[in-house]
Amino acid sequence: MVTNAPTLDEFMHGVVKRNPGEEEFHQAVKEVAADVLPFVADKPKYKEWEIMRRIAEPDRAVMFRVTWMDDNGNIRVNRGYRVQNNNAIGPYKGGIRFHPSVTLSVLKFLAFEQTFKNSLTGLPMGGGKGGADFNPKGKSDGEVMRFCQSFMTELVRYIGPDTDVPAGDIGVGAREIGYMFGQYKRLTNSFVGVLTGKGMEFGGSLIRTEATGYGAVYFMQNMLEAQSNSVEGKTCVISGSGNVATHAVEKINDLGGKAVTLSDSSGFIFDPAGINAEKLAWIKDLKNVRRGRISEYADEFGCEFHEGRPWGVECDLAFPCATQNEIDEGEAKTLVSNNCIGVSEGANMPTVLGGIEIFKDAKIMYGPSKAANAGGVAVSGLEMSQNSARIAWKEEELQKLLRDIMKDIHDNCAEYGAEGKHINYVKGANIAGFIKVANAMMAYGVV
Ligand code: NDP
Repeated sequence: MVTNAPTLDEFMHGVVKRNPGEEEFHQAVKEVAADVLPFVADKPKYKEWEIMRRIAEPDRAVMFRVTWMDDNGNIRVNRGYRVQNNNAIGPYKGGIRFHPSVTLSVLKFLAFEQTFKNSLTGLPMGGGKGGADFNPKGKSDGEVMRFCQSFMTELVRYIGPDTDVPAGDIGVGAREIGYMFGQYKRLTNSFVGVLTGKGMEFGGSLIRTEATGYGAVYFMQNMLEAQSNSVEGKTCVISGSGNVATHAVEKINDLGGKAVTLSDSSGFIFDPAGINAEKLAWIKDLKNVRRGRISEYADEFGCEFHEGRPWGVECDLAFPCATQNEIDEGEAKTLVSNNCIGVSEGANMPTVLGGIEIFKDAKIMYGPSKAANAGGVAVSGLEMSQNSARIAWKEEELQKLLRDIMKDIHDNCAEYGAEGKHINYVKGANIAGFIKVANAMMAYGVV
């Protein structure tokens, strides 16, 4: 069974060959393999069991047709997916994304990342991800409902409270989770914790909505505290204006920082006075109720709106909270040359590989997504526990658990990522996430 450790290039050659054209998946695997392969090189137990090769091959990926009828009576056809990457340490767990850019490659990268992220939370959850190339923008409530019902009519075959427990992601919030849970319940005649991010009336958990954005700011605060610093008084640039971004702003405000940007796919607003609680409430209404564009904020509050992304705005701290590959190398260089001291990723894989190298070389505090945005899935894990026990924990308990989990993730990354006085959080997150999954996989033998 003894094999020689492959180099990163050899390993990636195999991954690219087996998954042609899946660039996002290659990118995510390469980022992890670059740290894990050297780590296992002198540890025969991991090397011999081919753990990394096995984690980089999803347990299964299903693709299915989703047929639905629009308001004009036209038949519409979308493609749905569920990627179940690895369930060594618990049921598959990971969000559902509805966005036109969804492909198998995007969901494979997300499910792969989720495996390490879920391991980092310390909770018993494996990694999965799903979604469809459906665009909820501009659709009526009735159309969204019919799409969600059709999507769940197929997805129901693959999920279950002890098998796979999806949650929300881009384009999937409380409304969509409600429609999908309703359809699951109708099809199975069982009221179980099969989705997280549910409404409070039907098994949801307090602070689940807030958890990813809050968690990304806690992670930043933890990185800063390790350098005897804090979020207080810092100017923060944030991208996105959805669930993660708005709750990141809320926590930045709580901790005494100043958030000056938010964005959507049309551009970003720059409000040097800061996005205070009143303005944030207006944005939440704009995005969740009126479903409008961020440019309307500039008209309402008299500030600048620009096309493109916000990374050229001078800041102390940056929180990418929109989507993958939204900080390219040039933007990473701009952040560093503008003296940005920390980046905490609310979105999944928002920085390209070259950008990560720039942050690492500059030795700024860089919290990669699998660690920094794990607060959301951590509270999803707590929602699963509450559903199984048929209880509801109080808000203070959950707030404390979220803070404690983010601190533990930080400390775990710091342990495995220490490089002299500097902490390489990418390496720390990759290795700490890997170890638990790898140990479980070895216990199962060759399966
Ligand atoms: P939402 O749908 O609530 O918001 C997404 C935001 O990002 C919107 O402002 C959207 O703008 C913008 N956006 C999406 N795609 C693009 C794009 N291609 N270019 C520019 N802007 C874009 O999603 P979430 O806030 O839930 O998710 C944001 C990120 O956080 C994702 O990477 C997600 O995977 C990650 N994440 C989310 C978790 C959660 O709990 N929700 C948990 C962990 C990670 P527009 O409306 O114009 O499309």
